[in-house]
Amino acid sequence: MSETTAQLLYLVAAVCFILALRGLSSPKTARNGNLIGAAGAGLATVTVFLYGDLDHELLILGAIAVGTVVGVVAAQRVQMTQMPQLVALFNGVGGAAAALVALLELDGIVDVDLAAVPTFTLVATAFTVVIGAVSFSGSMVTFAKLQGLITSRPVLFPGLPVLFGGALIGVVALSVVLVVEPRMWLGVILALVGLTVGVLLVLPVGGADVPIVISLLNAFTGLSVAAGGYILGNTLLLIGGTLVGAAGTLLTKLMANAMGRSLFNILFGALKGGSTLGGGEASDRPVRSASPQDVAILLAYASRVIVVPGYGLAVAQAQHTLRELVDVLGEKGIEVDYAIHPVAGRMPGHMNVLLAEAQVPYEQLKEMSDINGEFKQTDVVLVVGANDVVNPAAKTTPGAPIYGMPILAADEAKQVVFMKRSMRPGFAGIENELLFDPKTTLLFGDAKDMMGKLLSAVKSL
Ligand code: NDP
Repeated sequence: MSETTAQLLYLVAAVCFILALRGLSSPKTARNGNLIGAAGAGLATVTVFLYGDLDHELLILGAIAVGTVVGVVAAQRVQMTQMPQLVALFNGVGGAAAALVALLELDGIVDVDLAAVPTFTLVATAFTVVIGAVSFSGSMVTFAKLQGLITSRPVLFPGLPVLFGGALIGVVALSVVLVVEPRMWLGVILALVGLTVGVLLVLPVGGADVPIVISLLNAFTGLSVAAGGYILGNTLLLIGGTLVGAAGTLLTKLMANAMGRSLFNILFGALKGGSTLGGGEASDRPVRSASPQDVAILLAYASRVIVVPGYGLAVAQAQHTLRELVDVLGEKGIEVDYAIHPVAGRMPGHMNVLLAEAQVPYEQLKEMSDINGEFKQTDVVLVVGANDVVNPAAKTTPGAPIYGMPILAADEAKQVVFMKRSMRPGFAGIENELLFDPKTTLLFGDAKDMMGKLLSAVKSL
């Protein structure tokens, strides 16, 4: 294959990546966007085989086969609620791959006349090794936290800030030495110190903040891949890496804004003794609970209902029954909408994906900023497996882990119904005063089971 043809095919693949990002920006076009992106990646891989002067082709094909099987099986088996872990894993191996490629290139560089190697190539090599290693080890720690292999609470120990600071200085110093005097063993030590930085960076981050850190590490992987593209002289890697870096950075910023937190606070809040969360105790204060029949009557007498879906809806997989309930209420002339908080669930867009899967029309999904003014005129808010996203502590309790996070104004409605299994708190691990409000009713039980009972009760009215 000629150079021109290969570059043209790379250009087509790069356009596919950009169209993929565009498609992923709306639930309606996300599936197509994903397919276009995958087609671009496929095209790029085939082009490398036809154009590149490859050694060890059988080994490469074997690695691709193993990676494909692992990827397909993992993607098919993973539950929607485990998606952040899967993203962390995929992201981590991307960072590791970039770092390994840079180390191999370094191995080639040390054998040639140094004067022939541009300084910027050496800078890019050190950068790729460090950032790729940070991304790999950081992603593995986030995976372990989300998978419950280690505690999801912030892990702190005496001397951690000093160790972290020392590792950072070490990384900068070693990078400078590597650029001046490139040696393979220096590159390996740089990678090891980078791995240490990644671990120390993520250990103090608490559970609910971990998905944001995954997004940040995703941006890191993108940047290391882009730098790797520069080292290899591969424009497509440069473009793809830059897109991932930019998208990851924007997503990190959007998520931090939606949670009302600064990135600095997310990463280092626990070191200052502020932040963060996890695993609070269930309260034994009295609340008002009701039966599905009681709640069915409450709903039947309403003219305006807002549903607030949250993490528990996803865990219980109650979205289909919920949609049926909303349809039945709609047939009874009740106006029903879904209020979507940007960080409801455990990943950006979680509720949109979940409800789209249950064929809920997009027009019924209302963003927080669009619907918050309507709670005052709402008769009943049905909170299904959500907690933090309606917790007034975000407005009233300075020092609470979610303080400053914009919330859905469910507390302004005339009646609030919570469907949850117990009095346990949400992910932030703090009590929700709204559960004890005189206008609140609790419908205790697993969301799928309870939603079924509520649906039958509404139908029988
Ligand atoms: P929460 O984690 O606050 O609350 C979920 C609720 O669901 C709990 O109160 C739990 O109560 C209930 N629940 C769990 N399982 C079931 C079940 N099977 N049936 C019924 N109820 C169930 O979820 P929210 O969606 O309100 O908030 C999301 C949280 O995650 C926020 O703190 C957000 O900051 C954080 N987060 C979200 C990210 C995102 O991108 N979406 C990223 C990072 C963090 P009980 O155990 O009593 O049933």
